Amino acid sequence: MGWKTLDEMDLSGKRVLTRVDINVPIVDGVVTDATRIRRIAPTVKHILEAGGRPVLLAHFGRPGGERRANLSLEQLVPTLERAFEAPVAFAADCVGTEAELAAETLQPGQVLLLENTRFHAGETKNDADLAAGMAKLGDVYCNDAFSAAHRAHSSTEGLARLLPACAGRLMQAELEALESALGKPNRPVTAVVGGAKVSTKLELLSNLIEKVDNLVIGGGMANTFLAAKGYDIGVSLAERLMVDTANEIMAKAESTGCNILLPTDIVVARKFEAHADHEILPLDACPDDAMILDAGPASVEAIAAVLSESKTLIWNGPLGAFEIEPFDAATNAAALKAAALTRSGQLVSVAGGGDTVSALNASGAAGDFSYISTAGGAFLEWMEGKVLPGVAALEQ
Ligand code: AMP
Repeated sequence: MGWKTLDEMDLSGKRVLTRVDINVPIVDGVVTDATRIRRIAPTVKHILEAGGRPVLLAHFGRPGGERRANLSLEQLVPTLERAFEAPVAFAADCVGTEAELAAETLQPGQVLLLENTRFHAGETKNDADLAAGMAKLGDVYCNDAFSAAHRAHSSTEGLARLLPACAGRLMQAELEALESALGKPNRPVTAVVGGAKVSTKLELLSNLIEKVDNLVIGGGMANTFLAAKGYDIGVSLAERLMVDTANEIMAKAESTGCNILLPTDIVVARKFEAHADHEILPLDACPDDAMILDAGPASVEAIAAVLSESKTLIWNGPLGAFEIEPFDAATNAAALKAAALTRSGQLVSVAGGGDTVSALNASGAAGDFSYISTAGGAFLEWMEGKVLPGVAALEQ
């Protein structure tokens, strides 16, 4: 890993320009989930304790390069103050003389929050002038927004090249967890990939096949693979046009020695709704008018057996229609097995992306996973083997 941590930087007396992700949900002016804010608190507190002066840069929503009062970051000040246990001043722009003066006069023990970076159209274009304007506000750059690192924007990429740069605590934790799961993992490595569609996870599957020993495919995606193998899947969610692609993936897996696990039994229903009448059937018995909504108990046993022999697990996507009971059963059972193996020290388990966090939270297993990434797109792009511009810029 070619990036520096906060521990390697001299922060004393320095203005530490810190890119964070505080894009939290707000309803009627009230923050309904402050998880993202809580997760950056260790970085801000560390900078304060080291005698640095944190100057926070962040985006909020999609203002499209225009000032929008409802997307002002000022409304987050009270929530930030509670999380940081420190006073937070606010500057009404993320560049310019007012922001420069506010950063310059920031007192030790205080935090400065700059206005929404996306009020400038240049932000999402990685505009060099905008990055240069931001660079005037800091002596050191710290990126703690892993979840925005897949985007080459002025505040995530351009700026990192203009100041001595390091990763914040959350960014560091994300990168270390990901490195332990796919970079230099203990083998065997098992990946669980579920969710609705093959088409949205093609690059993910292609990359994983080259890196993992076992690939468990579940959810609607698995239906497409079952169709490719010639099974009748009734009226299941599937992408019939992706059948050839599914066959190519299976052939490639065979050549790389990656063991693909598909469901061996299925849970079917006639309606996509909670507690719909359902039955557990062998793979070759799906009725014409039924849909597969989950993997059956034999499939779960097979997944549990593979997990028991694995040392590393990386998980993205549910194994079935987890939002509607009882079609969350396979996801829950496999997640609880992974959690138990992690608790006993046999497994390093890393999960993230999209619906995965809510699926694992609902199963009650999330707390025992080694690491749960709250970064959606960035986690997926990293799993796809892509270089994340915000991370690459820190490695300069
Ligand atoms: P994704 O966003 O790609 O991770 O997909 C998650 C969505 O896939 C969830 O809303 C699940 O309900 C849905 N899903 C998973 N398995 C199935 C299935 N067998 N049939 C229909 N939807 C499914």
